[in-house]
Amino acid sequence: MKKHAEKFIGKLREPKSLRLYTWTSFMLFVTIILLLLWLFQYVFLESYYETMKSRDLGRVADKIENNIDSPNLAKQVRNLAFKNSFAIAVTDSGCNLVQYENTMGSFSLIDADIRRNFNRGLYDMKSRLIDSGKSWITITPKLDGNDDIRKMIYVTSAQSDTNHTFYIFIEASVEPIDATANIIKEQLIYITVIIFELAFIITLFLSKRFSRPIDSLTATAEKFAKGDLNVKFEPSKIREVNQLSDVLNTASDEIQRVETLRRDIVANVSHDLRTPLTIIKSYAEMIRDLSGDNPEKRNEHLDVIINESDRLSNLVNSILELSKLESAKKELELNEFSLHEKLSEVMSRYTLLNEQDGYNIHTELSEDVTCLADFALIEQVLYNLINNAVNYCGEDKEVIIRQLNKEGFVRIEVCDHGEGIDEKLLPHIFDRYYRAPKSKRDVIGTGLGLSIVKQILKQHGFAFGVSSTVGEGSVFWFEIKVI
Ligand code: ADP
Repeated sequence: MKKHAEKFIGKLREPKSLRLYTWTSFMLFVTIILLLLWLFQYVFLESYYETMKSRDLGRVADKIENNIDSPNLAKQVRNLAFKNSFAIAVTDSGCNLVQYENTMGSFSLIDADIRRNFNRGLYDMKSRLIDSGKSWITITPKLDGNDDIRKMIYVTSAQSDTNHTFYIFIEASVEPIDATANIIKEQLIYITVIIFELAFIITLFLSKRFSRPIDSLTATAEKFAKGDLNVKFEPSKIREVNQLSDVLNTASDEIQRVETLRRDIVANVSHDLRTPLTIIKSYAEMIRDLSGDNPEKRNEHLDVIINESDRLSNLVNSILELSKLESAKKELELNEFSLHEKLSEVMSRYTLLNEQDGYNIHTELSEDVTCLADFALIEQVLYNLINNAVNYCGEDKEVIIRQLNKEGFVRIEVCDHGEGIDEKLLPHIFDRYYRAPKSKRDVIGTGLGLSIVKQILKQHGFAFGVSSTVGEGSVFWFEIKVI
């Protein structure tokens, strides 16, 4: 038994289809509304009617109470009794009549009491009011053998200006509402059936309408998951579904872009690896077949092989470095360092180039600052930018590393007077494997230097950029946080 119950609860908790969910929720809502309708229109009708009646009587009683000292009391009582078909009696504290008006004829219970019982009934009712401790009560006397006529008597007291207590008795007929209740019941049955049928059809239609765009998105997403990357997620009239399809379209575009990039990278890398490998192979063959016995030629060919191997290893290192940076596996190790100290370390690497190859690589420094960054990575940025400037510098062979102190950061500029970069190409310069047309890259570069620079600076959150004029040279700049 317990097992069955658990199974049933488990089934209930299973995710339901949107269509079923909309349908059941709407039907539940309709059922609750109908239930409330039945309760108020049928079950509570009688008590509601009696409450309304006693409220009416209370209002009339209030009017009399307010006029208890007025010389117009008699007129007021008469008017109210006629207007509402009531029997109204106002008595003193001994239940002797002060005012009396009856428009119900011999049907009136108060009238019968006054005529036949010497006001004993009024006396009883007054006692019940006092015993109840309330300011007013309603009494619904049982009438033997006459179900069609029911009465309600409202009893309350009033205090005159002379501090005398008066009692007000108002009698009204309570019309039987059985017939009305039956009519309402019959109508309610029709209404219930019609509303249920309508709700059933409308919700079936609505739930289908709501779930259709999501079903269509799911179908498209299934195609996408199976590898069809060209699918388009259709917009719909529902805003949330539209937002979802927009997000999915963006995701699909991004995946397509990454896929294209992956293909490009594989093509580029294999091209880049193939060139030095071919050179190495052909020079090795040359040594074997031709220059093996000629030490001068052999050494020359071996130098080419060594240079190409270095280039190959540089390329592989750069690829590894970049993929590590891009997958954010490399955590930043922030440290404080003196800019001048570190710059002079970097510059010492270029002494040989300055002295032997006639380069003029020098710094233009401002006041020293303490930087906060991962120095090993910033050092790599500097090397990549200076190496590029050296590779692409002009005839003057001058490369300037300039320091500009700003509020909260220091700006480093690496300037050369080379051929510069075309304005149209500037936005692509930091992209992976970007090669400017006619660049010397085939000979010297890997095409990854600037994308490594970009990754490192992005990871630090430092600004960077380039300005360049064709024929005049380029300025590559970046910022480092100072403390
Ligand atoms: P590479 O290894 O080819 O230099 P980079 O990513 O470092 O690769 O640079 C990408 C391209 O940007 C280069 O191929 C070159 O066309 C251009 N470039 C980079 N630095 C300079 C510079 N200082 N002057 C002119 N062109 C440059």
